[in-house]
Amino acid sequence: MKSYDVVIVGGGIGGLMCAYGLIKNNASLKVLLLEKGRDLDHRFCPIVMKKTKTCLKCEPCAIMEGMAGAGAFSDGKYIISTEYGGWLPDLFEHDLVLDYILKADDILVGFGADTEVYEPSLRLKKECLKYDLHMQSAKVKHLGTDANFNTMHKLIDYLSDKIEILTLATMDDVDITNNTVTYHRKDNAYTVYGDHIVLALGRAGAADFRDWAQRNNLPMTNNQVDIGVRVELPAMIWEDFSKEIYEPKIKYATKQYHDVVRMFCFNERGHVVTENTNGILTVNGHAYKDEAKKSQNSNFALLSTTNFTSPFNEPIEYAKSIASLANKISGGSVIVQRLGDLKNGKRTDEKRLKESSVRPTLDAVPGDLSLCMPKRQLDNIIETLDALSQVAPGTNNYDTLLYGVECKYYSSRPKAHDFMIDGTDHIYALGDGAGFTRSLSQAGASGLMVADKIVKGEIK
Ligand SMILES: Cc1cc2nc3c(=O)[nH]c(=O)nc-3n(C[C@H](O)[C@H](O)[C@H](O)COP(=O)(O)OP(=O)(O)OC[C@H]3O[C@@H](n4cnc5c(N)ncnc54)[C@H](O)[C@@H]3O)c2cc1C
Repeated sequence: MKSYDVVIVGGGIGGLMCAYGLIKNNASLKVLLLEKGRDLDHRFCPIVMKKTKTCLKCEPCAIMEGMAGAGAFSDGKYIISTEYGGWLPDLFEHDLVLDYILKADDILVGFGADTEVYEPSLRLKKECLKYDLHMQSAKVKHLGTDANFNTMHKLIDYLSDKIEILTLATMDDVDITNNTVTYHRKDNAYTVYGDHIVLALGRAGAADFRDWAQRNNLPMTNNQVDIGVRVELPAMIWEDFSKEIYEPKIKYATKQYHDVVRMFCFNERGHVVTENTNGILTVNGHAYKDEAKKSQNSNFALLSTTNFTSPFNEPIEYAKSIASLANKISGGSVIVQRLGDLKNGKRTDEKRLKESSVRPTLDAVPGDLSLCMPKRQLDNIIETLDALSQVAPGTNNYDTLLYGVECKYYSSRPKAHDFMIDGTDHIYALGDGAGFTRSLSQAGASGLMVADKIVKGEIK
């Protein structure tokens, strides 16, 4: 059996930053990185390549799985703040988390990432407060989908010479009694030993991670899910914001249910895209830096947060079943509906969509979101769009397009100390898959933190 100092599972930004931190601190470490998906140059999604409109449920999924992880085709918004993007500040001092976020950013800059930082606007924050809209203020960088891809490519090329990277290698099990990892490539199964094992599985691997923890009686917690839509409208509507700040992120507590609704992941002159998680199609948004690739529309996520209480504790399954229903009624795709049609209880059909003044950037199936989304979440979304219209008039216009379903489910989090899972001997979990983070910056930071824990014995 092959033996390593560290076996990392998952080639997303968390796993890659961990690998980088390890070999930067100790170049002689023997590190193996296993990645279920393909290498970066061979990640082609048939939907993105316009070969099909519906998800073919490819194994592995080119969007979520592969070297550079779920962030590979993201537009690389890098949050330089602890205000949002994950739960690391619940576990460590804010300053410490910020320090690691900045370290991860420095590494990305070393591989070509942009240095321009978008500052928050206190003027807009104050304007939003007038209407009970709470704008979060963080410094953000925007790498752009193309530049983000190139940066990650260079980071992976750098690591390829220094550690062993195996793609199309799926971890099947980790034996906590003897620190061995079993994985398969094609039809062959292998077992390796790691002094330290780092599980950086991302959202695509979150369910497997949870199942593995349950099988091993390792306690996990999770009760939150965010469900909603991707909103698309003419770019001019949010121009006053996007001229001044890169990304308006606004929270609103609805008057009807007192639920929190979040507007985030704003893409100026961007494109709405589909996202495939284990065969379930949801929506997301992209923006390119390249002027030629920009659209006339901006888009953002508008999601309503639900925190379940006993006896229900399967928020991921809840979100998946709503998203699956949207896939089912749209014939294996995602739904697009005009806000006005939704408010009037009408399905948006091909004819009504053609009449829309907003041209959709995603070829989704025109339909009726009220047939698949719970009333509570839809009411929350409609109320929030009306509230947002007070600071960006036109947000709630008849032709505003709503794509569904978009959901963010947060992976179950293991009980852990400095990321080492309680009840194991040097088996760590980090990033989005372990419920610690939900952004590139915090996932990257968690990777560096684990590397420090392994090499230096502490995170500081
Ligand atoms: C379309 C899109 C746009 C986004 N845009 C942004 C953005 O602009 N800014 C931002 O901050 N965040 C963004 N995000 C979120 C961001 O990508 C994630 O927060 C980040 O990638 C999490 O990093 P990670 O390393 O924890 O997990 P991931 O990047 O998901 O990587 C985990 C890797 O583990 C692999 N894996 C899973 N199971 C196994 C297994 N059993 N064996 C081997 N390998 C396995 C997966 O294939 C995957 O490659 C976006 C996400 C998507 C999908």
